[in-house]
Amino acid sequence: MRDSFGRTIDYLRLSITDRCNLRCRYCMPDEGVPAMAHGDILSYEEMLRVARVAADLGVRKIRITGGEPLVRKGVVEFIRKLAALPGRPEITLTTNGLLLADQAAELKRAGLSRVNVSLDTLRPERFSSLTRREGLERVLAGLEAAERYGLTPLKVNMVPIAGVNADEIADFGRLTLVRPWEIRFIEFMPVSGDLDYTPENRFPADQITAELARVALLVPVPRTGPGGVARLYRFEQAKGQLGVIPAVSHHFCNECNRLRVTADGRVRPCLFSVDELDLRTLLRSGASDKEVRDFLVGAVGSKPEKHRIGEADFRQGKRHMHGIGG
Ligand code: SAM
Repeated sequence: MRDSFGRTIDYLRLSITDRCNLRCRYCMPDEGVPAMAHGDILSYEEMLRVARVAADLGVRKIRITGGEPLVRKGVVEFIRKLAALPGRPEITLTTNGLLLADQAAELKRAGLSRVNVSLDTLRPERFSSLTRREGLERVLAGLEAAERYGLTPLKVNMVPIAGVNADEIADFGRLTLVRPWEIRFIEFMPVSGDLDYTPENRFPADQITAELARVALLVPVPRTGPGGVARLYRFEQAKGQLGVIPAVSHHFCNECNRLRVTADGRVRPCLFSVDELDLRTLLRSGASDKEVRDFLVGAVGSKPEKHRIGEADFRQGKRHMHGIGG
């Protein structure tokens, strides 16, 4: 699929639940956000249909996200069916890692290719205050299991926030000296959450890179393929590599290849969209595959050229990140 700006859209991010077993302060309020009603969440059959039509339209990669995707029952079977779709799209998953140690082996057997694990601190007390839950040990065990069962190359996503965890950038960076992981630092983005997005909280990509450069010589790594959004580096002699994702400060919208579907069946043409397109009503109205196909093509056609963060008319949408999927 091509959008109005000539970008090829071949990557679907499918959120399968808004539920999460953490309450990261920058992502999901502790309380007060009504959970989606079960009947509003797309069934696996509905999601498979969307994925099949999308794959037929040229989607090559499907990322399962949430909420926390591993809390939804039946996720392994769902992944098995996704991986077997015609065209065999690559299936990846983003998780907070809490349930990964238990499920890594069967996820791999089901056809999951690899995982991104979100982890924002290596300090147990900070983990509790940032996520408002316990479980750092379990996440670390999840990382080990992902590596053991071949859900690789393993990527770890960290969101540095000034005054919260940005002082751990170097510690995360050093992990790549001993582990073959890609540690990705993602700029804190203005999406509703508990921690207000303020100039004081921001920790821009250039500052992240400067922090890493204090650890050791940072060698830029050339990109091997299209579609990646991280600026890649490695420390000399390191086993893994580093990615810095300047989602806000130097947007990479010209390389956007994504379409997002939320768990309640809304298509978001852009992560920062205020407007959403109602796919669920169409799916439940007896629409033909051709109609679903036309709808997805139309959604791709409505992708904006770029996000408007930092511009006078930028408005934050109402959804928190856990309801979008990142
Ligand atoms: N539960 C899964 C996880 O933890 O990866 C998937 C959903 S989570 C919403 C996806 C990603 O969004 C996580 O890596 C999280 O750190 C990131 N995220 C949430 N709020 C964010 C924000 N305001 N700025 C940048 N990244 C954010």
